[in-house]
Amino acid sequence: MNKITQIFETLEYGPAPESADPALAWLKAHGNKFGHFIDGEWTKPGKTFASDNPATGKKLADITDGTPADVDKAVKAARAAFPAWSALSGYERGKHLYAIARLVQKHSRLFAVLESLDNGKPIRESRDIDIPLVARHFYHHAGWAQHLEREFPGHVPYGVCGQIIPWNFPLLMLAWKIAPALAAGNTVILKPAEFTSLTALLFAEIVEKAGLPKGVVNILTGMGETGAAIVNHANVDKIAFTGSTEVGKIIRSATAGSGKGLSLELGGKSPYLVFEDADIDSAIEGLVDAIWFNQGQVCCAGSRLLVQESIEDRFIDKLKRRMATLRVGDPLDKAIDIGALVAQVQVERVRDLMKKGIEEGGVVYEPDIDLPKGGCFLRPALVTNVSPAHTLVAEEIFGPVLVAMSFRTPEEAVALANNTKYGLAATIWSENINLALDIAPKLKAGVVWINGTNSFDAAVGFGGYKESGFGREGGKEGMAAYLKPSWEKSLKMASSQAGAAAPKPTAKAGASTNPLDASSENIDRTAKMYIGGKQARPDSGYSRPVLGPDGTLVGEVGDGNRKDIRNAVEAARAALSWGTTAAHSRAQILYFLAENLDTRADEFARRLRAQTGESLASAHKEVAASVERLFAFAGWADKYDGAVHNPPSRTIAVAMVEPIGVIGIVAPPSRPLLGAIALIAPALAMGNPVVLVPSERSPLSLTDLYQVIETSDVPAGVFNIVTGDAVALAKTLAEHDGVDALWFAGSAEASAMVEKASIGNLKQTWTTRGLSYDLSDREKFEGDYFLRRATQIKNVWVPYGA
Ligand code: ADP
Repeated sequence: MNKITQIFETLEYGPAPESADPALAWLKAHGNKFGHFIDGEWTKPGKTFASDNPATGKKLADITDGTPADVDKAVKAARAAFPAWSALSGYERGKHLYAIARLVQKHSRLFAVLESLDNGKPIRESRDIDIPLVARHFYHHAGWAQHLEREFPGHVPYGVCGQIIPWNFPLLMLAWKIAPALAAGNTVILKPAEFTSLTALLFAEIVEKAGLPKGVVNILTGMGETGAAIVNHANVDKIAFTGSTEVGKIIRSATAGSGKGLSLELGGKSPYLVFEDADIDSAIEGLVDAIWFNQGQVCCAGSRLLVQESIEDRFIDKLKRRMATLRVGDPLDKAIDIGALVAQVQVERVRDLMKKGIEEGGVVYEPDIDLPKGGCFLRPALVTNVSPAHTLVAEEIFGPVLVAMSFRTPEEAVALANNTKYGLAATIWSENINLALDIAPKLKAGVVWINGTNSFDAAVGFGGYKESGFGREGGKEGMAAYLKPSWEKSLKMASSQAGAAAPKPTAKAGASTNPLDASSENIDRTAKMYIGGKQARPDSGYSRPVLGPDGTLVGEVGDGNRKDIRNAVEAARAALSWGTTAAHSRAQILYFLAENLDTRADEFARRLRAQTGESLASAHKEVAASVERLFAFAGWADKYDGAVHNPPSRTIAVAMVEPIGVIGIVAPPSRPLLGAIALIAPALAMGNPVVLVPSERSPLSLTDLYQVIETSDVPAGVFNIVTGDAVALAKTLAEHDGVDALWFAGSAEASAMVEKASIGNLKQTWTTRGLSYDLSDREKFEGDYFLRRATQIKNVWVPYGA
């Protein structure tokens, strides 16, 4: 039998090598040594570190480790380039992005080979997925640049953006960061990950060739410390980070109180649900893609298989057989499925986790397949006999390791899927469209793929819930992350120093200091908390006097503490179904609330006057504006809708607007009624239960609202009120993992505290930082501004069409 006949007989793969030569020649042309790309020029290499080929361990190049002085130089260049770049017309900026897209396409093979050499990913993936998506991202955003003014009226770029990216999709993550930032008119400093800087450096050359103005894109290489120097630089306006949740939390903490914009795309432990009616062969192929794509080093990897018990044995058996046919090998061989992990430390990390997993009782299956000698290679692994608390189920492994569990009912599948601190992506396999579309909205994840997996497109937002971060990349929501309303850039400090309340009224001279004398009556008229649809006494058993401007006692409220907040958060979490209540019903309830408030307008106006000393006419105006604001958001409840995207594949991506979850709201000290309603109304309209801390000094307008709430059919637990020390209660809310977002109106110092304290579950925060936000301004606050903050987009990918 000759060789060809033999091959036909055995159907064995032969080698299909891609030449490394063009990429090696490019490296050589640079002396295998690189400085930074700052202000359109290459700096001399400084102190360097080696960048290796993980498949062979051979050094590819020496890369400069950026110093704080380098960072400063890059920030200065980006700052200097900003005015002219942001002043260009969208059309002109779009043309620059288009030129980049064209050049990426032109040099796509060089990029693909260099990426595979540097990162270890199979050339099939870098050639067919990473680089085409990079080009697509720049094309897509060229269009955004041009249509910005129409789509985001009144918005401006942040300024200088610091962008820090990981090593798993080096050039793709660069594109996700740089394309929208430039389209919006920002200038950037991008730091690639230390393991994989090479394609970013090649990209810098493309930027040069495309004729981008100097300083618009600066590429700075280095380690984590270089990243930290970018994060901490005072003259950077926004930080965009993709990487580990651990570093994401460090960055959240470092930027707290700085006013810097922040988007975080962090880790994941995404569930892959297979129902008994799934097309099993397709689900297996999908799974290969979900967990062994890029050696499993994918933040949205489908790393937790959840398979229905009735098909579990059959599915696992087929999966093992499929795993045995996977080929691990040289990343530049076009006929391999799994390449090298990025670095030896990563291999060790995966091995350590596996060891721990085995000690905890996990049973590991690895097919008996060949591994190349040397290099950072691992076999694909499947771990069974695990439960939700098992380390390998809970922790992100970032390697070729799949854990498998089973479920019996769809409800159990949802509970297991959501039983994670992460919420990046999820996959559903079922031939029953009703079932799939019933499950998709119940999954707490920013992206859900139905009967497919790992689909990405520039037009479709990507990003997570919970500890997977906040902000989206791609699509309109991704553009929004690089823009802010122009008025927000020019806010001044509130006149009453840093937004703190004007000096508190003190009790009248000669008044008793005995707390027993505080109440003017013998019966207890202290307003209680409002928790779970009922009035509740404060846990502390203490109350606080509410004084009028002249120091007279107007009333008393409970002094809320940690336990009251805990009870209120529990009540709010029990009311999360508010988010799936029909928007029409939510609207009706808000209209009813407005109507009932309006019928008692006079009483509320008098109470406002008693607390603040404002004129009755002005107090009436505040009540009327509050009623109007409730009406406005009742109107929005059923109109702030999503979109349907048409990515270039046979799918649609349904961008659904979902509530964030429980929102903690600390209302501003001034305008005690309108200030609270302006924040409550959008949160409720979009389906978020709230825990409100009313104005510390003038809380009675909210405690008076209990009866209005009760008569307006607001379901129990949707609207909770805890009175007391605003800053102390804000801290408790920030530290509570049951609170998903926190809006805080108050001083700069307290705002910084709130942002820092909220890193535990990475809640999304909105703080006023002592600035003069005038919440009565209808134009600014009656629409998109808070609607966007009260919601997050989930993209559900559904196969569609022929
Ligand atoms: P991964 O899990 O992808 O390795 P990391 O979060 O460790 O993610 O790294 C992602 C990026 O963040 C890299 O570019 C790295 O250099 C950078 N980085 C690491 N530590 C810090 C830090 N403290 N501040 C800013 N950037 C950092």
